[in-house]
Amino acid sequence: MTPNPWKAALSQLDGAAAKLNLDPGVHDVLRHCKRILTVAVPIRREDGITHVYTGWRVHHNTSRGPCKGGVRYHPDMHLDEVKALAMWMTWKCAIVGIPYGGAKGGVVVDPKDLTRRELEALTRRYAAEILPLIGPERDIPAPDMGTDEQIMAWIMDTYSMNVGYSVPGVVTGKPLAVGGSRGRSAATARGVMYVTGATLKHRGMSVEDTRVAIQGYGKVGGPMVALLEDLGCVVVAVSDVNGGVYNPRGLSARGIAEYRTQAGTVAGFSGGETISNEELLTIDCDVLIPAALESQLTEENAERVRAKVIIEAANGPTTPEADEIFEERGILVVPDILASSGGVTVSYFEWVQDLQAYFWDEDEVNDKLRTIMEQAYVDVLGVAEEKKVRMRTAATVLGVSRVAEAHTTRGLFP
Ligand code: GLU
Repeated sequence: MTPNPWKAALSQLDGAAAKLNLDPGVHDVLRHCKRILTVAVPIRREDGITHVYTGWRVHHNTSRGPCKGGVRYHPDMHLDEVKALAMWMTWKCAIVGIPYGGAKGGVVVDPKDLTRRELEALTRRYAAEILPLIGPERDIPAPDMGTDEQIMAWIMDTYSMNVGYSVPGVVTGKPLAVGGSRGRSAATARGVMYVTGATLKHRGMSVEDTRVAIQGYGKVGGPMVALLEDLGCVVVAVSDVNGGVYNPRGLSARGIAEYRTQAGTVAGFSGGETISNEELLTIDCDVLIPAALESQLTEENAERVRAKVIIEAANGPTTPEADEIFEERGILVVPDILASSGGVTVSYFEWVQDLQAYFWDEDEVNDKLRTIMEQAYVDVLGVAEEKKVRMRTAATVLGVSRVAEAHTTRGLFP
């Protein structure tokens, strides 16, 4: 049976609510998504035939500010996944203390099946359909799996054409030319690097001897190889959907990047032995970083994981059953809602810069990101120690308590 991310998200919320003795009414509010919009997205394909795709935009919560969250293009998308991702965005924003609620959107499509013209048509029509929900004060989309900065530029343009003037602050993760932020494209990976550094320090592990395996070589996993190499770690394995490569002596970030540019995948890279995308999860390493899809670490493979630390760069890569097994086995899981929040943090910086029409240099962005990530790590660790709970529960407790406080301070309308 395929794990359901919404069930996992609810069970994490319920666990945190129990630790917090959360008011049952507030708990019930947080168990629901505030609004869900389903849209039909018709486009004319190159062969002249009209094809209708299904999409969604989900707002989970707006107690702490406008909604924030990515847009995902993936052929296996379903509504429960979008809802879970929206809820996780709510906790993520609260944990790093940025003034947003959580949202997520997506279209059931494999973007690789579309031509560039079709991709633009799909994006513009999807943006037009979710127009009633988005805006710089309402809901600010961003890239996620299957979407990129060009897609954000098309969303920004569609919104702007509609209102009649340019509104850069309606999306983040845009190209620099239309109000993007320096440092945004590698921000999630950079945030993971800061959290990895903080975790190793806290665990008394030396960065130099740490062997890391990374599942996923996309927007997050890709830049991470070089960043972790800069930190001093040895990246021993990387993989993507097509397969991966393992070398106990370490892989060269530059070598993989060059190979990936021409081959379009890391599978087949000659710098090590060939492994599958699944084998990477149970490879011999100290730190495992899932940076791809959700529900990768399950009760099926959790017993065989050899890492001592798991840092979740993907959203929801560990099922609740696998979480239990890792806790029993003494494997530390640094949860997604903490570890992968660097992306949305720099999205926030981008939005602030857009609203002020005043732009920062990259060092300023990275320094501010480091400060926020390290503080969030300390805050989550503080809750974990105080309540004697694992990091995921602590992170959820912290996120939920901040959202609940905002909710009760505002009061229930009407
Ligand atoms: N899609 C990213 C995430 O899951 C970034 C969202 C954003 O920047 O709004 O965190």
